[in-house]
Amino acid sequence: LHWESQIRSSAAVTRPDGITVLITGAAGFVGSHVSLALRRRGDGVVGLDNFNAYYDPSLKKARKALLDSQGVLVVEGDVNDARLLAKLFDTVPFTHVMHLAAQAGVRYAIENPASYVHSNVAGLVTLLEACKSADPQPSVIWASSSSVYGLNDKVPFSESHRTDRPASLYAATKKAGEEITHVYNHIYGLSITGLRFFTVYGPWGRPDMAYYSFTRNILQGKPINIYRRRDGADLARDFTYIDDIVRGCVAALDTAEASTGSGGKKRRPAQYRICNLGNTSPMTVPALVRILERHLKVKAKKHVLEMPGNGDVPFTHANISSARAELGYKPTTNLDTGLKKFVKWYLSYYGYRLNNKSV
Ligand code: NAD
Repeated sequence: LHWESQIRSSAAVTRPDGITVLITGAAGFVGSHVSLALRRRGDGVVGLDNFNAYYDPSLKKARKALLDSQGVLVVEGDVNDARLLAKLFDTVPFTHVMHLAAQAGVRYAIENPASYVHSNVAGLVTLLEACKSADPQPSVIWASSSSVYGLNDKVPFSESHRTDRPASLYAATKKAGEEITHVYNHIYGLSITGLRFFTVYGPWGRPDMAYYSFTRNILQGKPINIYRRRDGADLARDFTYIDDIVRGCVAALDTAEASTGSGGKKRRPAQYRICNLGNTSPMTVPALVRILERHLKVKAKKHVLEMPGNGDVPFTHANISSARAELGYKPTTNLDTGLKKFVKWYLSYYGYRLNNKSV
């Protein structure tokens, strides 16, 4: 196989003493950033992604080209492919798995429920089976989501809050993931860190997310839909900048304990952690739009609508004391600075110039 020979010839991933990471979802938004950060500091990184068409595949290909240029090999394949995973683990002694592949998005689940079960439930189990059987057993760090807090009205959301009222199938599959990973931790001694990301945004972001599609529409002179609660209150999100999330992921990897395996009665329990990674500073959607208008130097055409009951929650807000204590996590980028960087990337990626659109 093509990738096998590429991997075998790469000392970075086959050397026995370093950190070697399998990153699933490496052609995705968060996965591409984390892959680059780990590679930059010298870790061995192999990516896996199925390049699905949930959003513009050319963006995923462009991220892959960037990773290629930095020495990160991205294997095209599905986390549900047990044979492929077995081959990958046979070829490389991964010390860590950073599992970021998933079917993301809340609204898409209304029409495409099976895709969430395939990637977020079945795919997770297939991956954990491979980790369980691998020698050495890797430590697993994976992306859960703030959506597990569901219809919670106690803010800020803390890991001790209840998570039994998911508002979407996406949220339900992430919650299922937290319980499935616990089983593999308990029975097979896999070291598990689940990170509940709060609305991540930034350069190379996801075109299905509001800040991205708003930017596209504003630049094209098209209207944007702004949803409100039935009582007229604005929706709010704890928007978290990608570099802060990447630092949290890297710190989670660096503080992950080794898996302990399932053998022997005296085995010490393997590590199982769940941490919020948020910004602790929620913003309303109209405030987000005002910042975008300022950076784009264009007024948005706004349609204000009542929130349809399709899985969105009214607000999110992270308490990060556990991530601070466990990971030394401290977000440093506010929404204004982060959106400025996103807009700069967006304009250059799509070839726009301000006040002289469409080059
Ligand atoms: P993304 O869609 O950009 O990245 C996910 C990648 O996984 C994609 O490139 C996709 O092609 C790949 N993928 C999907 N199913 C796969 C499968 N079965 N096998 C192999 N590859 C597959 O999303 P993202 O925003 O980078 O999210 C990364 C992780 O963080 C996901 O688990 C997501 O649920 C979680 N998360 C993201 C946010 C956010 O705001 N971006 C918030 C909370 C949680």
